[in-house]
Amino acid sequence: MAYTQFDRVPNHYAGPIIQKVKDFRQANGKRSLSPTLLEIGQLQVLIPRHFGFCFGVERAIHMAFATLEKNPEHRTFLVSEIIHNPLVNNELKERGIEFIYDAEGRRQVSEDELGDGDIALIPAFGTTLQIEDSLKQSGIDTSAEEYRENYDTTCPFVSKVWKRGEELGREGYTIIIHGKYKHEETQATHSHTKEHTQTLVVLDEAEAKNVAAYITGEMALADFERQFAGMASEHFDPERDLQRVAVVNQTTMLAEETQQVTETLREAMRQRYGEENLDYHCADTNDTLCYATNQNQNPTRALLRSSADLALIVGGYNSSNTAHLVEICSEIMPSFLIANSDEIISRHSIRHFDIHAKQMAESQDWLPGKFPVRLIITSGASCPDILMNQVLQKVAGFYGYGEAEIAEANLSIFEEI
Ligand code: SF4
Repeated sequence: MAYTQFDRVPNHYAGPIIQKVKDFRQANGKRSLSPTLLEIGQLQVLIPRHFGFCFGVERAIHMAFATLEKNPEHRTFLVSEIIHNPLVNNELKERGIEFIYDAEGRRQVSEDELGDGDIALIPAFGTTLQIEDSLKQSGIDTSAEEYRENYDTTCPFVSKVWKRGEELGREGYTIIIHGKYKHEETQATHSHTKEHTQTLVVLDEAEAKNVAAYITGEMALADFERQFAGMASEHFDPERDLQRVAVVNQTTMLAEETQQVTETLREAMRQRYGEENLDYHCADTNDTLCYATNQNQNPTRALLRSSADLALIVGGYNSSNTAHLVEICSEIMPSFLIANSDEIISRHSIRHFDIHAKQMAESQDWLPGKFPVRLIITSGASCPDILMNQVLQKVAGFYGYGEAEIAEANLSIFEEI
């Protein structure tokens, strides 16, 4: 199989226009957070400085395709979706990979159906110790060095969170995971950290405020237990286990929200134990934040000052980091999350995923008729560039611009912000 210049993901995931944008940024304004402006006649497309595949996703895709290539004689399974993108998961399925768990966490392949010689890839988010134990029962030893090197695609930034969680647990801290309880990565992190210490999952700043209220004595035990039922490790005792805390995150959460969660808990500890004892009661865990979380979110924030007419965000509907990009853009402009260009029905009608209602929606007259028109097009960390490329081509087509005009597009760094 042919790979892109990075020798990591298959060539057909790259998109020629998007690659041109990336090459342009490699050569110009590499350090600036300003977006790239692509001018196709009267159509202005702003593409953020960073978008699309992060290191961990590229690595996981590379490992999955390499496994299929190198092991044609073995049955290959994936514990669950390798990343949250339907194009990639469907392609792996078409190539013969079976999924042990579906996207809702239901087991599809029983322990008995797996055997010695089978390969079970662990996805980029990692997996729980319980699932690893189950694989071991089937004769697949996920702790073997060869297995870890070749078939465990857990992103190193996720395993770093587990390692730090273990260290903090040994130092006596309770781990607070800022994440979505059912997300595979949060489940995996919870499973690992609770081996070493008590663990609690908080979804957002509002939940962190409730934890803080308990710490400062403003929330009764019964209310705390009702609020966090099922979100903590077994035998979690808030009185004992909320005296010293350390916050880590599901790496695809909004980085600034994780910082707010930490700050809220630090403030509660400051109130209860005093400034001089703060670090003892709330650990500094800034070093556990994945670089990619900020790398895609900060340039997207930078776009908000660009007076764009609307934003198209391309990515999987169950992708947490993609949903956060939608949240950021929709603060000030109409923003549409679409899985691919097929969701664009016409220049008058678009199908898109509503991240709040968690269902598909359809909007009319979504594209401005005026000239010049300025659009933002970006994608989440699990989205192949080709999907963004196709969206851009389709939109350009509505304004009468075809391949020839796109090939002649002018590229510059958008310095107005
Ligand atoms: S977002 Fe960060 S932790 Fe998650 S896969 Fe990408 S690089 Fe790894």
